[in-house]
Amino acid sequence: MDCLFCAIVAGDVPATTLHVTEHTVAFSDISPQAPLHALVVPRTHFANAAELAAGEPATLAELVSTAAAVATAAGYPDDYRLVFNTGAGAGQTVFHTHLHVLAGRDLGWPPG
Ligand code: AMP
Ligand code: ZN
Repeated sequence: MDCLFCAIVAGDVPATTLHVTEHTVAFSDISPQAPLHALVVPRTHFANAAELAAGEPATLAELVSTAAAVATAAGYPDDYRLVFNTGAGAGQTVFHTHLHVLAGRDLGWPPG
């Protein structure tokens, strides 16, 4: 399977790694939309958050814990946004589960 985030997890595509845990890897988004914009991915391939929840529910919780650690390390322990885009119509472009972690500016609500 040709998957960009599997390749990043494997170390075959370079990325700026921010945090690693047993089941997750966090790295900087290549096109940041905020002063902090990280992606947290499971090491195992799933297409989206719901498939991860069904297949490895503990890893879904680990994604959130890792995201909190990344936000805290970046200086935003209390104010950050977590986003799973699911499906092309919602803006998903990489079909390996990834949790966006955004912080450091007024993010606005509702999102665009
Ligand atoms: P989504 O649109 O929710 O599927 O998010 C995919 C994200 O992956 C986008 O925010 C991209 O900027 C990001 N991205 C694409 N290629 C890379 C890469 N090589 N390294 C880091 N982030 C990437
Ligand atoms: Zn993958």
